[in-house]
This record gives sequence, structure tokens and C-alpha cells, in this order.
Amino acid sequence: MTKIVIVGGGAGGMEIVTKLGRKLGRKGSASITLIDRADHHIWKPLLHELATGSLDEGLNALDYRMHASQNGYRFEQGVLSAIDQVDRRVILAPMRDEKGDEILPERQIDFDYLVIGVGAITNDFGIDGVRQHCDFLDLTEQAMALRVKIRRRFLKHAKEHDVEQRHFKISIVGAGATGVEMAAEMHHAAATLRGYGYEISEDLLQVNLIEASNRVLPRIDTARICDAVEEELDKLGVKVMTNTRITEVTPKGLQTLDGQFIESDMTLWAAGVKGHESLRELGLELNQNDQIMVKPSCQTLTNDRIFAFGDCAACPQPDGSWVPPRGQTARQMALMVGDNIQKLMVGSQEPLEEYLYKDLGSFVNLSKFHTVGNMLSFLGGGMTVEGKMARLVYTSLYRRHLIALHGIGKGLLLMLLNGIQRLVRPELKLH
Ligand SMILES: Cc1cc2nc3c(=O)[nH]c(=O)nc-3n(C[C@H](O)[C@H](O)[C@H](O)COP(=O)(O)OP(=O)(O)OC[C@H]3O[C@@H](n4cnc5c(N)ncnc54)[C@H](O)[C@@H]3O)c2cc1C
Repeated sequence: MTKIVIVGGGAGGMEIVTKLGRKLGRKGSASITLIDRADHHIWKPLLHELATGSLDEGLNALDYRMHASQNGYRFEQGVLSAIDQVDRRVILAPMRDEKGDEILPERQIDFDYLVIGVGAITNDFGIDGVRQHCDFLDLTEQAMALRVKIRRRFLKHAKEHDVEQRHFKISIVGAGATGVEMAAEMHHAAATLRGYGYEISEDLLQVNLIEASNRVLPRIDTARICDAVEEELDKLGVKVMTNTRITEVTPKGLQTLDGQFIESDMTLWAAGVKGHESLRELGLELNQNDQIMVKPSCQTLTNDRIFAFGDCAACPQPDGSWVPPRGQTARQMALMVGDNIQKLMVGSQEPLEEYLYKDLGSFVNLSKFHTVGNMLSFLGGGMTVEGKMARLVYTSLYRRHLIALHGIGKGLLLMLLNGIQRLVRPELKLH
């Protein structure tokens, strides 16, 4: 039986494994295995909401093992450490607990087709002090740890007697969608916690949003979106610092290229992404950003049986550009890889599909304050939408992901449950 192994159950990986599991795995036409370092999936674009408590992981986390048993695939928890391309096997590193004691030994899993979708990590650009003194939003564990840290800092600062000490200075480096959304989320969290009795005065929360280029959202071309976002950040009191390049991070703050020192109690680094350094061990061709180089069919350059998609892949476009790292592209590429593997399995003479990036629009959600975006392909040209309509389209991306993973009936039920929970539980998760 053909063995298809998918490494990475993220935004794209979960969609391909669900589709192949239902179509091939359930019928016994192929054996489908998902490998992930974690034991549960949370849709990555929600991590900033998890970090502030706007999202309850209890309701939104999906257990891989349970999902596998219901959707025709097998799940193996582990970290991909090497690929034996001759004998077609992936090697998973031994799994250890927090103390370093081994839980599972090194394992080997055979494949006929291998699909890599392990996502990306935040790029620290090798700047001194970033890894040691900043927080990141790459993993669910980091988002959860950040939530505890934010709550403790709010508690500590609210109880300081010296007014100067009561200022809570947060720096967010990178004014892309993640940084901008996190800045708004911080204000939402502070306002909501104030309602729950935390003594956090609005004037004492200072959020600096720091960006090396000359505007917020440097990757979004629609001027109306950038203007609307800047306006809203200004209303919230977020200090936007463009043309500001960080050269070093210390425990007390950030040093800039032009000689300023920005004091900071907590720094979130969200300045772009790169591939995992561990990908260097796989024997595949990588670009300078540690992403796996692939052909437009998402096959790797040296092995047609190994595919890569999403944030970990560098996929060229006919105009010479590269596919951007986004949830929507990870999903589209992953589904295309699934179709291409099925063609190879039956020995089809048809050429494999090639990935052509279709921008379905960009949306930025400033917590409960505002949502703005543009609908490109939907309207065959482009139209900026704001407010409730924009919020509806923004949330529909996650809804579509839920339906792809659970089917329409269960997906709709989960959305209903989420809606009910929002009515009966605190707006922020407090424990
Ligand atoms: C806060 C935030 C907000 C965002 N908002 C948006 C948005 O609004 N719209 C949008 O389009 N995009 C958004 N993004 C980007 C989007 O989340 C990513 O582009 C998308 O998740 C990439 O999907 P992927 O399948 O390539 O990887 P991921 O979703 O990152 O999944 C990778 C999976 O691989 C697993 N893994 C990693 N390394 C290994 C290993 N060595 N072995 C085994 N498993 C491994 C991980 O546990 C994870 O499950 C946002 C990102 C963040 C952080």
C-alpha cells in the first residue's frame, strides 16, 4: 500500500491530512501518517489571541490522535530530525520530558511520498539579545507562557506605589499583521482586565510598535488599510515608531541604530519569519532564509517524491516573486500537493499542477476595536471593507478551516458552541 507521510499538522498540514485520510486512508487505498512535534493543533493565526486570553485553548485546540482516529490517518508525535532518501524513511528524534528523560526512542517511518509543512519561526536576524530577552509567537506553548507573563506583569505594575514604576512599557518589534494585531490585543486585554478589577490605568500602559520600514503593514499595498490601521492605533494610544531599526535588545529595553534607547518591560519580537534551522539537516536544498526550495509543483528540487509547502517552502512564481508566508497560501499549496500525489500514485500522464498564488485579500483585525481589509478575488479587482463586514470575512477564514477539519455539521456546531461560550464565560480567559 502507498505510504504518504505528512510532517507538520498546522494550517496547511491539517487540511491535506484530513482530505487524504478521508479519501484514501479510510478506504485502505493508502496509508496516511501525520507527524507533529505537538499533540494538539491550534490554528496559528489565533496565537496572539491565545497570548492575551481572548481565545480559550480548551475550546479551540484539536487533539491530533482523536482527529486521526476519526479521519482515516495515523498520528505519530515527534520531531523530524533526518530523512533517509535512499531507503525512503523519516527519522524522528527521541522524545524527552522536561527533565530530559526519554519518553520515546528515535523512530523511523517509511514513506513513498513525503510532505513537509513544518511552518516557520520568527527571524531574529542574528541581532544581539533578541533570543534571550524577547517573547515570540511561534508556538502554542510560547503564547500560553506569554499569557501568564502578561497577567503577572499587570498585577505587579498595578500594585507599585511609585507612579513612575507603575508604567507598563511593552515593545512590539515588527508592524506587520502580527505586531499590529498584538498591539491592539494588549489594549483590549488591559481594558477587559480593568473591568475585572485589575488596577490598570489606561495612561500607564504604553505600547510601542517599532518598525524598520517607513510605514505599518509594509507587505500590504492598499494605502486605505494602512491609513485605517494607523488611525485606530493612534486612537488606542499605541506609539508607532517607523524608520526605527533595532540593533540590540537588553533586559531593560532596545537599542536603535540612530542611538535611542527604548525602555521596555516586555518585548515581543514579530519581525518576519524564516525556516527552522533544523531543516539544514535534511539533505534538501534551502534558500538563505532556511526555507526548502521547491518547484511550482511543490516538489523539492532534488527529490520528486518529497514535497514542501507553506511557510517552510520557497516556491517561485512566474513573475520571479516567491509565494508569501500566509495561512491562505499554506492551505492552497497543501491541497494542491494532495492532488499531485494522487496523480503520481495512479501514474497519470497529466502534468502536475503548479501553484499560482491567488491573493484572496488581506485582513487586519484590531481586536474588538476595528477590522479592515481588502477583498481582491472575491470582487475581481479589489475593494476595501471595514467594520462588521470585514470582521465577518476575517473570521470566515477560521470557520472554513474548522469545516475542512470537522465537516460541515460538526464545524457549524463548534462555531455555535464557541458563540454560546462567549456569552456565558468571561471575555478573557482568566486562569
Ligand atoms: C499571531 C499570528 C497571526 C497571523 N495571522 C494571519 C492572518 O491573519 N492571515 C494569514 O494568512 N496568516 C496569518 N499568520 C501566518 C500563518 O499563521 C502562517 O502563514 C500559517 O500558519 C503557515 O501554515 P503552515 O501549515 O505552513 O505552518 P504552521 O501552521 O506553522 O504549522 C506547522 C506545524 O509543524 C509542526 N512542526 C514544526 N516543526 C516540526 C518538526 N521539526 N517536526 C514535526 N513537526 C513540526 C508545528 O508544531 C505545527 O503544527 C499569522 C501568524 C501569526 C503567528
